[in-house]
Amino acid sequence: MKKDRRAVLSKAAFTGVLVLSLTVGTAYADKNLNTVYQVYVDDESIGTVEKKEDIQAFIEDRVHRAEITYSEEDLKLNEDITFTREKNLSSESNKAKVLDQLEESISVSAESVQVNIDDQTVAHLSDHEEIEDVKKRLKEKYVEENILTQLESKDSKGKPIEKEEGESGILSVELSHEIKGESSEVHPSQISSVSQAVQEVKNGVVVENSDESQGGNKPIEGEVSEPLTEVVVKEKDVQEQTIESSRKIVETNDLLKGETETKQEGSDGRKEIHTLITKKNGSVETRETLKEEVVEEPVEEVILKGTKIIPSRGTGTFAWPAVEGTITSHVGERWGRYHKGIDIAGVDDRTIKAADNGEVVTAEYQSGFGNKVVIDHNNGYETIYAHLDSIDVEVGETVRKGNKLGVMGTTGNSTGVHLHFEIHKDGKLEDPASFFK
Ligand SMILES: [Zn+2]
Repeated sequence: MKKDRRAVLSKAAFTGVLVLSLTVGTAYADKNLNTVYQVYVDDESIGTVEKKEDIQAFIEDRVHRAEITYSEEDLKLNEDITFTREKNLSSESNKAKVLDQLEESISVSAESVQVNIDDQTVAHLSDHEEIEDVKKRLKEKYVEENILTQLESKDSKGKPIEKEEGESGILSVELSHEIKGESSEVHPSQISSVSQAVQEVKNGVVVENSDESQGGNKPIEGEVSEPLTEVVVKEKDVQEQTIESSRKIVETNDLLKGETETKQEGSDGRKEIHTLITKKNGSVETRETLKEEVVEEPVEEVILKGTKIIPSRGTGTFAWPAVEGTITSHVGERWGRYHKGIDIAGVDDRTIKAADNGEVVTAEYQSGFGNKVVIDHNNGYETIYAHLDSIDVEVGETVRKGNKLGVMGTTGNSTGVHLHFEIHKDGKLEDPASFFK
């Protein structure tokens, strides 16, 4: 087999044999006969030469030229070159013919590394280091160089440096199909550059690993479509989300109906969502939630809502305290004095009514006011009803809005039948007319 033979003789070994043969040959030289050397290429004679050195120099030259042509070092000669020493009278030299023959017969090979993916040979490279370069180049298309370096870095104990718990970032960069390098020998023209090998992996091109396909790398029809390996990047994504606070309403009889009180202020919480994202050649393949972690619990807002009803408590709005009638006098200066309320007159029905819910605190005759009723509405308001002809309520009695308090009259300092009506808020006088617009 041709393949087996080419590994037998390295250039160095060839030189060694040559020197040894010359020494032996010189020792047995005969003065009457010329010493010539029969030259064999793989056991086949190609003629005779007078000096072995000519053959050696020629081969060295051809190997050297090939090294320059293919930019490869340490090329090997594939053929086994041997000599037999002979004595010859004629001393006929056919050096030119032998060298021509040699030129046609010899070939060189280079030590190389097969780039294998799934038992398919993708390309040949010069050495194993270039295989690593191919892997790196493929990865760098999707991951920045400094991140790759970071992922490979180890701590002082030789362990990989792990990410912080809540940190987003790339966890690993792998190839979906492993790229393996296997030592081989090929014609130097078959050795690709790293860039070519990377392109072939991406294109999914498969090359035949045979001695005949000199510089082949031809795509096989119908088989080329997917890349032979893809860059699988596993990435951790940490996102913070707000957990919205909820509101709870608690009814209580400790508060009056319509009143509310915040028992507990609410606040939003926060949670971290850790997701593992797997990308193949840059596109997302899977998203997997690794965990959800509550960083801060939300605080529920608690609102107390009053349910207690007090009948003697005013609603805050006032009803007209008479049965129809009109305002005949307003709040303000009148006859050199200040009129503190409104006068209502001109009614058919003289019923005086409570303007709002409340408790009767005064029900008596007073000079000036005549028969006077005062209602405390238990919400800051007090109303005063004066000049009544008669009073129908007693002090301490609870009245509802609209209840009858008495009858309109003209008792006290009064010039005719009317109701004098005042509203006080927290002890300060208000204009009743402003409540009946
Ligand atoms: Zn009045």
